Amino acid sequence: IMLENIKDAVRKFLTGSTPYEKAVDEFIKDLQKSLISSDVNVKLVFSLTSKIRERLTKEKPPSILERKEWFISIVYDELSKLFGGDNEPSVNPTKIPYIIMLVGVQGSGKTTTAAKLAFFYKKKGYKVGLVAADTYRPAAYDQLAQLGSQIDVPVYGEPNNTNSIEIAQHGVSTFIKNKIDIIIVDTAGRHGYGEETKLLEEMKEIYEAIRPDEVILVIDASIGQKAYDLALRFHQASPIGAIIITKMDGTAKGGGALSAVAATGATIKFIGTGEKIDELEVFNPKRYVARILGMGDIETILDKVRGLEEYEKVQKKMEDLMTGKGKLTLKDVYDQLVALRKMGPLSKVLQHIPGLGVLLPTPTEEQLKLGEEKIKRWIAALNSMTYKELENPSIIDKSRMRRIAEGAGLEIDEVRELLEWYNNMNKLLKMVKRRRSDIEKLFGG
Ligand code: GDP
Repeated sequence: IMLENIKDAVRKFLTGSTPYEKAVDEFIKDLQKSLISSDVNVKLVFSLTSKIRERLTKEKPPSILERKEWFISIVYDELSKLFGGDNEPSVNPTKIPYIIMLVGVQGSGKTTTAAKLAFFYKKKGYKVGLVAADTYRPAAYDQLAQLGSQIDVPVYGEPNNTNSIEIAQHGVSTFIKNKIDIIIVDTAGRHGYGEETKLLEEMKEIYEAIRPDEVILVIDASIGQKAYDLALRFHQASPIGAIIITKMDGTAKGGGALSAVAATGATIKFIGTGEKIDELEVFNPKRYVARILGMGDIETILDKVRGLEEYEKVQKKMEDLMTGKGKLTLKDVYDQLVALRKMGPLSKVLQHIPGLGVLLPTPTEEQLKLGEEKIKRWIAALNSMTYKELENPSIIDKSRMRRIAEGAGLEIDEVRELLEWYNNMNKLLKMVKRRRSDIEKLFGG
């Protein structure tokens, strides 16, 4: 798969000694090549890279990221948007019984996918039934019956009936009577790509007959960006539609198919990644992009970014507290400590946090180590507290302290120290607050 090359480009970019500007140019060229050879629409590719360049000039790297890391985080962001952004599809049935109808052209992997879905939901603990209503392909019933017995899921079929609508109706009502939770209907997929109209008309007929809760279109990844037209028409025709892209393992064009479908606004729920029954994955654009960029490299960068985001939220809360809104709870302390830890070694982090540097005299290596150790232990203590205790620390008496210390594997004095520190913080906040209001009074605020 061509998208695999991006990982190497990321590696080269992060570890190479090429100067930043030149490395960025090289990386963007590599990225364009990979995407285009994976059949991503050329226009999409160019708008992606110009968006990346625009952000490079307009935005400023956050202080805790190296410039190269920041660049990769932007690439990650924009690539994620290309493949569907924040769309984490919900795969849980919204009601029981839940009827899923699968449509797709012949050979797209529809029947295999029906069985994969059945297995996916069975593993989640649902009672699942399969309806073999693909009367166009003669072997479809046998194929589904065999797959069904392999995963121990009942299959409804009428091998001698050629009316797929009748079979679908009978299958659904039988399974509803048998108290099946999720009913998956494999419909006839007779038309080749390019005959979307007929496919969608047929879909409507069966839709009217069984009134499914969800219609899923199955698309073979190897059609690449041609998936756009089909997905668009389907998306417009079916308000409860989602898409599964199969054979992501067997083609270089997977990126093209994914980005084309994402561009229509349709939701990609799953991707098929092999012939075996468990080779079906819930599709999460961000996770997918993290994988093509190289999980190890990207995760460390993303952790820092997330840590920083959380830290900024906490900072905001602290500012609110100083201006008199709300009160500092141990929960806030906890959030702050966890965010700090995510951002990396404390020594690095402290250098970069505005304000903190002023508060603290330059700490020695040893002090930093102690600081990090303390944060770990405090997080452990906070983890052992109940939600009530976090929200209202004044209820923590000696026996609660003992319980918390035991739960965290700490000495009781360490818990006491944390609570004292917390009380001092609150006193400090109050002081700041009072001063502010004094100053405001002075200026007639
Ligand atoms: P249908 O005509 O749409 O019902 O297609 P089938 O379910 O019979 O699948 C056609 C072929 O594609 C079969 O050989 C399947 O094993 C294969 N297939 C389906 N999904 C995948 C997939 O995700 N990866 C790979 N490599 N093969 C798949």
